[in-house]
Amino acid sequence: ADGMRANFIKTIVQNDISSGKHTAIKTRFPPEPNGFLHLGHAKSICLNFGLAKEFGGTTNLRFDDTNPEKEDERYVQSIMTDVHWLAGDQHLDPLQGKEPWDGLFYASDYFEQMYACAEELVQAGKAFVCELTPEQMGEYRGTLTTPGRSSPSRDRPPSESLELLRRMRAGEIPEATMTLRAKIDMTSSNMCMRDPALYRVRHIPHQRTGDAWCIYPMYDFAHCLSDALEGITHSLCTLEFAEHRALYDWILDHTSVGARCHPRQIEFSRLNIQYTVLSKRKLITLVESGVVDGWDDPRMPTISGMRRRGYTPSALRLFAERVGVSKTESNIDMSVLEDSVRADLEDVAPRAFAVLEPIKLVITNWPEGEVEWFEVLVHPKRPEMGVRRVPFSGEVYIDSSDFMQEPPNKKYFRLAPDRPVRLKFAYVVHCDDVVTDACGQIVELLCTYNPETRAGNTPDGMKKVKGIIQWVSCAHGVPITVRKYDRLFSTPWPGKERPDGDFLKDLNPDSLEVAQGFAEPSLFDTASAQHNDTPKLPYQFERVGYFFEDASSTLENVVFNRVVTLRDTWAQ
Ligand code: ATP
Ligand code: MG
Ligand code: MG
Repeated sequence: ADGMRANFIKTIVQNDISSGKHTAIKTRFPPEPNGFLHLGHAKSICLNFGLAKEFGGTTNLRFDDTNPEKEDERYVQSIMTDVHWLAGDQHLDPLQGKEPWDGLFYASDYFEQMYACAEELVQAGKAFVCELTPEQMGEYRGTLTTPGRSSPSRDRPPSESLELLRRMRAGEIPEATMTLRAKIDMTSSNMCMRDPALYRVRHIPHQRTGDAWCIYPMYDFAHCLSDALEGITHSLCTLEFAEHRALYDWILDHTSVGARCHPRQIEFSRLNIQYTVLSKRKLITLVESGVVDGWDDPRMPTISGMRRRGYTPSALRLFAERVGVSKTESNIDMSVLEDSVRADLEDVAPRAFAVLEPIKLVITNWPEGEVEWFEVLVHPKRPEMGVRRVPFSGEVYIDSSDFMQEPPNKKYFRLAPDRPVRLKFAYVVHCDDVVTDACGQIVELLCTYNPETRAGNTPDGMKKVKGIIQWVSCAHGVPITVRKYDRLFSTPWPGKERPDGDFLKDLNPDSLEVAQGFAEPSLFDTASAQHNDTPKLPYQFERVGYFFEDASSTLENVVFNRVVTLRDTWAQ
């Protein structure tokens, strides 16, 4: 492994190891199972798993499942699948059944221990049961510029709070009438420290603990205790939690769990990417409103969507590496993501010919009925990837963008009347005539081929033929449906410029374009996901882009997703 690029968190870890503070580090990735993972999570996964790998430490996957309302077992499954896939050594060779995480935990496994800490705090006079309603609590909290006011329950004796807490747990207390709150400082300039709630009453079953609990810990309470119970050394989170760090430390400073282990919380900036949204809430809206075809729609910035589209785990890891880790806002251009997948696929993607906007080219001097098979490399720089056999015949499709009846200037190197072009690996052809229909639409191009130009031969007089284009034999080409994906949104920061913030109004209406084309038959010797179960790499359709067979593809209806174009079409 090349190791992670230098960043401030890596430096902290290095120092903690060289100073002897820690002999081994332990990190965790703590998703809430309330949605599918997105690219922001990928950054966090790469950071947590990457640090552990680099320093010989370990990483836990922990489901932060303390809010049963929004959580679902289906999300748990998808998260495991995604983390597993992202950590895979390469697209073709996932971890062979081994899990990438060292421990798999659920915060709900610690409910009993967390509750014990709550009782400890109450007994020590550090927490109390408060009877303000949520609205009142809001009022009492004060603002950034005005101090808060103490709850009337704040000074009730610990024994009374303890009894109420036990009644809360026993199910005797209705929702929104009582909370357990820490007793810290209602005048603190840090709002998180103004007697924050630690437990609330929710009479709803939990996906794992069932009816065992009707009080649930707040995120701030559950998170630090879970970290400590697992012996986490470095608890990495995004910058919004910087203010919460004081509370993280306070809870650990006042509980026995925290006395045994006190992880260090370190914040880094969250990932934002232009022309998409990275927030589960917004992604859920996209799924539920039906504007995308589910969580794994290839336009979604979810790990499952990227996977379906044809992104490789190594491309996403490269992206995370390029994005880096810092404390400054990271607003990343979509091109960084697209360049990462191009860089990753260039050396590994098998090549193939496909024509996505076909026009027919008829070779008038080709021997009737003859078929010639060209053996060409699967990858031009990697002979070990083998050869493919490409059939050539008297009728081939070329892409309509490779022909112009009246080319604009001398720099036009594609096919035009009197401007010959090389059909890659095969022959140079000369366009003699253009057959059009009644509307002036091109029906076919009548061409002659030069037998002496076979397979790259350049006899005298042919040296000036610069254009080389791809083609597919009409008789052999396999019809394919191609989904050309573009950015999901038409503005860099969806909803941001709108008074109502409605990001759905910034959807790109042209984010999906469907085309019908033809691909060389060699694809289907080995390619179709339907043929066998091993995951495949995307193809580079020469001169077009990278394409990956969609999960829905069948032999009768072959569907390819465009992963990315060959070049950045947005840059000028
Ligand atoms: P969202 O805001 O999309 O709901 P979240 O932070 O609530 O995300 P969690 O499941 O709680 O989602 O996050 C799990 C981990 O992933 C956390 O450690 C969180 O900091 C990290 N994470 C989430 N979004 C990003 C992001 N955009 N950039 C970097 N890390 C992120
Ligand atoms: Mg969250
Ligand atoms: Mg969130």
